[in-house]
Amino acid sequence: MALNEDRRFTISRLPETFGAGETIIRTPLWVGGGGSTSVDHAILVRTESGRHTVIAVGEHTSVSAMAPYARRLRADAICPGFVNAHTHLELSTYPALEADFPSFLVEMVQHRRSHPQARGTPAAALGLRHLIEQRVAAVGDIIARESVLVSELQHSPLPGVAYWEVVCTSQSAAGSTIEALGRRLPVWRSLHRAGGPVLGLAPQSPYLVCRDVLQFLARTARAEGLPLQIHVAESPAEIEFFRSGSGALARVLRSVGFTVPPDPATLGFRPAPALSPVRYLAEIGFLDASPTLVHCANVSDEDIRIIAEHGCPVVTCPRSNANLRCGVFPWQAFSTAGIPIALATDSIASAHSLDLGSELAAAFAVFGADLSLGTALEWLTAGASRALGRAGQAITPGGPLDTLTLLDLRADAA
Ligand SMILES: [Zn+2]
Repeated sequence: MALNEDRRFTISRLPETFGAGETIIRTPLWVGGGGSTSVDHAILVRTESGRHTVIAVGEHTSVSAMAPYARRLRADAICPGFVNAHTHLELSTYPALEADFPSFLVEMVQHRRSHPQARGTPAAALGLRHLIEQRVAAVGDIIARESVLVSELQHSPLPGVAYWEVVCTSQSAAGSTIEALGRRLPVWRSLHRAGGPVLGLAPQSPYLVCRDVLQFLARTARAEGLPLQIHVAESPAEIEFFRSGSGALARVLRSVGFTVPPDPATLGFRPAPALSPVRYLAEIGFLDASPTLVHCANVSDEDIRIIAEHGCPVVTCPRSNANLRCGVFPWQAFSTAGIPIALATDSIASAHSLDLGSELAAAFAVFGADLSLGTALEWLTAGASRALGRAGQAITPGGPLDTLTLLDLRADAA
């Protein structure tokens, strides 16, 4: 199912010709962050020397009374700047792939081998430019190349988290992986600067990272306060892999040289009929660090209970899940369990663009009419900030207008 052509949301900017003076922007849907929504709200904006500053926020009648001669605009919704809580910017020159998840993994490996330079700093810079053009407020970027990680920590203008992606599929290699990480983490942490991203840790998935390394990363994240993120329960093939050690994912892993089925000497576990990837991560203590879990499209009721008990936020990427035939994230069950949800794009390879307006449209196409616009905007703002371990942005007087998201701005006919 291709969802990328279905765009119903326009993220607006003020006209370039917007003159000096005061403007009131009224909205029927105000998402102020942290669960505060309102039905008839407005902001008063003052424009001076091309700068648009929010002067007042509040209920429309009272804001309107402050500036009776202000020009009037209307937006379908106003919320803080969108946060993209999960993407892989270094894949931004990869082709847009559409295949079942195991075949997608094969195509990713083949592309990497035939284009060894594709996953690098120029591609990440291209992706970063896409986000800046959208005025994304923060990003959670998964990075497997050290040059990209260092570049983002030193130079990226976008705050958020630069997650170091870890792959280590054999317990026998865990010691050297841990030792290398122990040497590099203090170096990378020393690159933190005001306004830039912080370092995070991202074991790729519970089938590409062995038990000892998963446990080390969870301990380190807790001890040093580093954000932690992992792909989990993404495809039906992953569930089969934990149950039986066989199936399409096992065949792909064998084809690229990994030992399957997994055992205590390789990944550090034995498949079992009752074992799910979420349950496995809980049993080895990984979830004690309350990591952010990405995808969770293939979970049981027990998995959802475990995730809620461990206080893990969850990121959903509906276009990626649809393009890779992974199934549908059961958002209502997560919402009922009180689990914080973020909506994010994933990479260009699986989502086909980094556009959060398209992801929002896809969320409605996939999740149906029960999903309200207010809830989806919470996922893109407060929920996404929570997934990155950041405080959500509040809309307060004195801030610049261009840090806010205005959906479908137009002249107010009222
Ligand atoms: Zn991803």
